[in-house]
Amino acid sequence: MVNRAVAKIKIVATPEVVDTVRAYTKALQFCVNVAWNNKIRNNVKLHHVVYGELRSVHKLPAQLAVACIKQACGMVKKGKTKPVIKKACVGYNFPRSANLKGDVLAIRTLSGRQEFNIKIPDCYKEYFSWKINESLLRLDKKGRAFFLFTFSKEPEVVSLTTQNVVLGIDLGIKNLAVTSDGKFFNSSIVKQVKRRFKFLRSKLQAKGTRAAKHLLREISGRETRFMAWYNHNISKAIVSRFKAGDAIVMENLKGIRKVWRGKRMNYWISNWSFYQLQSFIQYKAARKGINMVVIRPSYTSKLCSKCGKLASRNCGFFSCSHCGFSLNADLNAARNIAYLAHNMLDERQAAVNQPHISSREAEASLTG
Ligand SMILES: [Zn+2]
Repeated sequence: MVNRAVAKIKIVATPEVVDTVRAYTKALQFCVNVAWNNKIRNNVKLHHVVYGELRSVHKLPAQLAVACIKQACGMVKKGKTKPVIKKACVGYNFPRSANLKGDVLAIRTLSGRQEFNIKIPDCYKEYFSWKINESLLRLDKKGRAFFLFTFSKEPEVVSLTTQNVVLGIDLGIKNLAVTSDGKFFNSSIVKQVKRRFKFLRSKLQAKGTRAAKHLLREISGRETRFMAWYNHNISKAIVSRFKAGDAIVMENLKGIRKVWRGKRMNYWISNWSFYQLQSFIQYKAARKGINMVVIRPSYTSKLCSKCGKLASRNCGFFSCSHCGFSLNADLNAARNIAYLAHNMLDERQAAVNQPHISSREAEASLTG
């Protein structure tokens, strides 16, 4: 998973900036019209038809003309009817049409290069060491100019030292999250709230009046906002336990819905927000320089975290028939997730690098 981030930075709306955005907007509409009317969906084809006019009539610098063509193609491909552009975002490409040195941003305008001193807020500083992708210049309704930097960063290859904390996190229904060192985030409040919303929904659906439908929409928004708020808090609590260089290990959630777990459990699973919680944890972790390792879910809930053999879980409890070990099932899964990541990263290191688990247990997991 590649980490992505956006930082919106205000710049001075010079006449050159305003002119450039205006010209770009007109040029974009021109490109969209040509592409739409001639059924062109391909960058290269559109380039042949419009490039000359973008340069001579619209006076766009070469790189902006290229960005404009690409953007127009994208819009036409997506549009069901011909797109009408009111406010365009000018696409900038680093380092070709825009450049950043320290806190001086240089961008191409219709009348050449222009430099801006930008102020980078503390909360964004970290991202400016990442790769800058195609970014956007836009004007808002009040005529203020903003530059939207888009960043990306490949997840780092994790090399762990004995000081680094590595925790597996199991996301689930009974517990929203369980970390391999035994911290539980239970879901009773979430379930309670979700049940209440479900009850309200069924009542309103039965009513079916216009007012009821309106209220229904409002309620679904309220439930979404509640879940987002709750996930933000949990992810914050989880991430706050780590420092830069540590690693969080989670399961890839793909396929979580495919397994049949009984009617009631499947209802919860399809109405849960695992992805949101995981993505919140991920971006908060990335911001702090914490590594995220995502592993394939394979038997994490069915293996004994002590001896490594297959056993069964029963009523939220895991008990191993081979070694007699028993543990909360979600905690058992979280520990397996941490072990699997260790084995994947460095088998040797794993034995010495289990800060939260006794060495005997760690050895057992490796040999078993
Ligand atoms: Zn066992």
